[in-house]
Amino acid sequence: MPFASLGLDASILKAVADQGYTEPTPIQKAAIPSVIEGVDVIGIAQTGTGKTAAFTLPLLTRLLRTANNTHKGRVRCLILAPTRELVVQIAENVAAYSRYSGAVVATCYGGVSERPQIAALRRGCDFLIATPGRLLDLGSQGHGDFSAVECLVLDEADRMLDMGFLPAINTIVRALPPERQTLMFSATLSREIETLTKQYQRSPKLIEVGRRSNPAETVTQLLFECPGALKQVMLHHLLKDEAMNMVLVFARTKHGADRVCRKLDGDGISCAAIHANRSQAQRQRALQAFKNGEIRVLVATDIASRGIDVDGISHVVNFDFPDQIEDYVHRIGRTGRALSTGTAITFITREDLGDLRRLERIVGKHLHCGKLPGFDYTQQAPARTPEDFQRHQDPRAGAHHSEREGRPQGGRNGGYRAAQGSYRPFGRPGTRRTGGPK
Ligand code: AMP
Repeated sequence: MPFASLGLDASILKAVADQGYTEPTPIQKAAIPSVIEGVDVIGIAQTGTGKTAAFTLPLLTRLLRTANNTHKGRVRCLILAPTRELVVQIAENVAAYSRYSGAVVATCYGGVSERPQIAALRRGCDFLIATPGRLLDLGSQGHGDFSAVECLVLDEADRMLDMGFLPAINTIVRALPPERQTLMFSATLSREIETLTKQYQRSPKLIEVGRRSNPAETVTQLLFECPGALKQVMLHHLLKDEAMNMVLVFARTKHGADRVCRKLDGDGISCAAIHANRSQAQRQRALQAFKNGEIRVLVATDIASRGIDVDGISHVVNFDFPDQIEDYVHRIGRTGRALSTGTAITFITREDLGDLRRLERIVGKHLHCGKLPGFDYTQQAPARTPEDFQRHQDPRAGAHHSEREGRPQGGRNGGYRAAQGSYRPFGRPGTRRTGGPK
């Protein structure tokens, strides 16, 4: 089925052809005609399935069909996403797909100055792509006119709930017109997502690509036994294989990511680390270097990795087993994107074995865990440096919460519980927030 049969505007088809896409992915085939019709959609799709284009292409087509310039001072389409990387990524995609139609795109996310974002809100835009935290912050100061929002997209909705954004999302959605189109994308259809759907959508069409919680079919999953003290050695051993030319390594903690990166660097392997302690500019630089092939290995924590949309990642290595088992699916989805294939390698220590059984239940199949061929399991672990003694503890037992990425503490949505009371109602013109959390 060609893109041309989906009802997209000609200027958008031209931009899609520029991207080199020859045929729509399954989620695109299923979602694009419904979104153009104006129907609410729940898309259950893994990352890497082409879901961003599945909603941005038809929304662009819809916006083009209505009068120009209606964005002046207003937001026409609001896309909420969990991380700044993902926001930037979506914005880049929208800009690329609208290069012949000229949509106005603005972004709002934390970690950078508010001022240009406030100015963009004042000018108005066709697409506002935002993280819920920063948007709530700006909206509660009275910035932005959301009274004409025609479409709301909740991207990676499951992840936004995991990150404790539910109260922020509720406040934002209450400020939007009820007669709007609402699209929701999530890797899983949990009970929480179903509740959100009932609250925000009208007779939504459910589109499911592949089985729920099933990692992208295009990824080969390899699991190797690995004594905790030999993880770094095993990684260096693996990297002797030149086929591992673009490798994304997942570490559980920020310091862990830095440590892995330093040791690779010491062995002459070009690499960079991205995590929440790195500034937005540092993260973007590292991502760019990885995309350009200037570095071979990118070491990331789960939160920082969410917006990584890099084509051609040959391997994902789970150096540490994910804290939240569902992250496994997101992690390995970074390779084998769209229609290509990839390999995901997971190191399994004795402590991980219990979680491995749970992981099998989530992915719905037996995952074989064996010894890595050619690896000397009898070797002595390398001597630890003084720094290792300081930091190198079993991450599960030893990592302090403060060392982990910015997940809300105290469970789901816990991070916002304390903050909730001090937020002003979103978007009430003229109100400025004087206190409360940043
Ligand atoms: P996403 O699931 O939206 O993160 O997209 C994953 C990757 O697939 C991105 O790099 C897109 O540029 C790419 N992509 C999206 N649609 C297609 C398509 N129809 N054909 C080939 N690649 C695509």
